[in-house]
Amino acid sequence: MTIAIVGAGLGGLALARVLHVNGVDSVVYERESSRGARGQGGMLDIHSGQRALREAGLIDQFHAIARGAGQDMRLLEPDGTLLLQEDTPDDAPLDRPEVDRADLRNLLLDSLPDDVVRWGHAFTSADNGLLHFADGSSATYDLLVGADGAQSRVRTLLTDARPAHIGQNVVELGIPDIDRTHPDLATMVGRGNYWVLGDGLSLAAQRNGDGRVRIGLSFYNTAEDWFATSGIPFDDPAAARARLIDLLPGWDSRFTALIEACDDTVVPRPITTLPVGLTWPSTPGVTLLGDAAHLMPPVGEGANMALLDGALLGLALAAHPDDFPAAVQEYEREMFERTSAAARMSAEIQELLTSPDAARKMLAFFQPDGV
Ligand SMILES: Cc1cc2nc3c(=O)[nH]c(=O)nc-3n(C[C@H](O)[C@H](O)[C@H](O)COP(=O)(O)OP(=O)(O)OC[C@H]3O[C@@H](n4cnc5c(N)ncnc54)[C@H](O)[C@@H]3O)c2cc1C
Repeated sequence: MTIAIVGAGLGGLALARVLHVNGVDSVVYERESSRGARGQGGMLDIHSGQRALREAGLIDQFHAIARGAGQDMRLLEPDGTLLLQEDTPDDAPLDRPEVDRADLRNLLLDSLPDDVVRWGHAFTSADNGLLHFADGSSATYDLLVGADGAQSRVRTLLTDARPAHIGQNVVELGIPDIDRTHPDLATMVGRGNYWVLGDGLSLAAQRNGDGRVRIGLSFYNTAEDWFATSGIPFDDPAAARARLIDLLPGWDSRFTALIEACDDTVVPRPITTLPVGLTWPSTPGVTLLGDAAHLMPPVGEGANMALLDGALLGLALAAHPDDFPAAVQEYEREMFERTSAAARMSAEIQELLTSPDAARKMLAFFQPDGV
């Protein structure tokens, strides 16, 4: 019985690893040509997903690469008012540490036998127990698991649902080697997350393991085609930074200094999600996990859910090695319930971020008793 996993992201790899530790073989087909073919982005806040790493036998290695100090948080208003500062004590438990996405993916990749991941295999379609790839090759499968992310192609085998724009457009920027290049800004941002929440706008800065500070400028209540009309010249980074500063009228000069200090990476990211509570009739031979199944607003749940999906599907398959449809049903039942709760919570946080007086509301969210 061949388990074919499409996508070597966190979810697909967690599944392959949990299967491997339970003595079940699988093959992961990944469209990228190698593990380093594409930058993996910044830090991830891993909390509930730690259970998956425990099931994968990798929790100690995870703790070795996780950054507890990444849990630090500062919340400010655009005029510079500091509303909240939380610094993580050195001996604090690693409840929600940050980890570099590439480090976590490498941990999972290194934990698998060499031949499990087949690089350079872009899935295009599946029929009659055969997977087809963009290079014209094909492979057999008994169970196909779509772990192919937000724009999943496997998803079309189970549902017509597609990600839809949620009225948020993010511009991603960054300051390289901040301790050396801008020590004053490094001190201001601190060791973890730095959030400035305004009306319809937010700036999220985060220190990464390699000394880069990644910055996401979010424009809420904006249309899907907003980038085309925003006047941000993405092909001219210096002019794009100047335009972004114009789009932050009245913001404290310390925040605009952050934008001025950025390098020439200026990337537009429209934010889309799948409908909250998406399900499909259980279908023998195909299932989904991670963003392919439940793409949520990026407020800290997606990677955790993807890891858990992978681990729990792996455990279900290991428990029913001769009955994949039963294992898939068991997995989907739990997954639909768990991830729709996470999607509802993410949508509530998203609503809060987009509402007037978002900073004060976020403060109340973090400190419900006003402490
Ligand atoms: C800016 C940002 C910050 C985030 N921060 C957090 C956070 O702090 N905490 C958190 O929990 N979540 C966070 N998330 C969400 C998280 O990144 C995702 O939910 C998570 O990566 C989903 O994992 P996945 O394995 O489902 O998909 P992915 O990680 O997207 O992996 C999918 C894989 O499938 C491959 N693939 C795609 N199509 C094909 C194909 N046709 N054939 C073969 N391979 C294919 C891709 O190349 C990729 O390797 C964040 C997201 C963003 C955008």
